Amino acid sequence: MRRLIVLLALALCLCAVPLSNRNACADAIADRAHALHFSSIVLDTHDDTTQRFFTKNFDLGKRNPDGHVDIPRMRQGGMNAIFFSIWIDGRIMGAPAVQKALDQIDAVRENVERYSNDLVFCRTAAEVRQAHDQSKIAVLMGVEGGHMIGNDIRVLRMFGDLGVRYMTLTHFYNDEWADSSTDKPAHNGLTDFGKQVVREMNRQGIMVDISHVSDKTFYDALEVSKAPLIASHSSCRELCNHVRDMSDDMIKALAAKGGVIQINYEKSFIDQNYKDAYDKATGGGGVVSALSQAVKDCGGDAECAERAQNALERRLTEEGKLPHVSWERIIDHIDHAVKLVGPDHVGLGSDFDGASMPEGMDDCSHLPQITEALMRKGYSDDNIRKILGGNLLRVMEASERVSRDLRAQAAD
Ligand SMILES: [Zn+2]
Repeated sequence: MRRLIVLLALALCLCAVPLSNRNACADAIADRAHALHFSSIVLDTHDDTTQRFFTKNFDLGKRNPDGHVDIPRMRQGGMNAIFFSIWIDGRIMGAPAVQKALDQIDAVRENVERYSNDLVFCRTAAEVRQAHDQSKIAVLMGVEGGHMIGNDIRVLRMFGDLGVRYMTLTHFYNDEWADSSTDKPAHNGLTDFGKQVVREMNRQGIMVDISHVSDKTFYDALEVSKAPLIASHSSCRELCNHVRDMSDDMIKALAAKGGVIQINYEKSFIDQNYKDAYDKATGGGGVVSALSQAVKDCGGDAECAERAQNALERRLTEEGKLPHVSWERIIDHIDHAVKLVGPDHVGLGSDFDGASMPEGMDDCSHLPQITEALMRKGYSDDNIRKILGGNLLRVMEASERVSRDLRAQAAD
């Protein structure tokens, strides 16, 4: 009904108002969207900016000429809650993987200390809300790839203690206990140990992230987990047929258990023409194999890999082999998921600083466009707030509840 009223108001505005006043009408929506956006919790669940903390020229506190995220641009874009990703190449396993994860957790914590006027480290949904009340940016952490626990459940518990609030079960490769969507199946989904990992994540209050995993791993995790699942950075396979995206059936199953799909902005995951062209230009491997190769060639140096990846994309674009992709595809994916499962199960997981952004979404300062586009589509203020961050906070609270219950049971 509310949606109908907004549409009606919009129609009246466009039809009944003289031409000279129509710009004023459009501006009224822009103003309302701006006010809504900058009073909301805008939470992004996947940012690879952590890799940049280890490079000489990057400063999180300053406006950088490249990349997608820093404090000035977060302020400008109203992004006030962020999950920094803890990631290393999935071909590194065991103790070196654990060490690298700890280095990155420390780097996130040190950046929060250094910029404590703007940033505050958060472990719970309540702390994120509190940070928002204090006009601070909430910083959280997600581990991207189960290989980083070094096949040792005690390390997972330590990650929980250090404040990690989600873990993606795999990255591009299978780990010791779960299959990835971009590798040959080796475990038929989750192994028994993998199921134990999911149960321990529930106990620790670490959200189970099924981005990157194979479809079978997803369904196994869905069955085992007592808390709702998240896809921290995945889009809709119905609109772009990539294994990294979720099928409509998967999105429905995720939503039925209270979970949330956080839409990824990577061009190859949101635009079918672009994906097909990229696959063709790279001999069928597409963006995932090109990125894997770049990481390998660069000896695991993420910045070097990103440079190589950008250079490849630039060359292919100049040769006319890759089509343009508009940022509005992001809205298409949000809208598809909302039409499929309603507004309570969709959010934002940009993959900033780890993916190739569509035109018009050059960095996080452009996020207000999403709010305005959803408002123009007739989304209610309440539903827009849910998509911007409310849904993820709800899942986080559910995960905290499950953790409390499991710990209480163990203490009985
Ligand atoms: Zn990823």
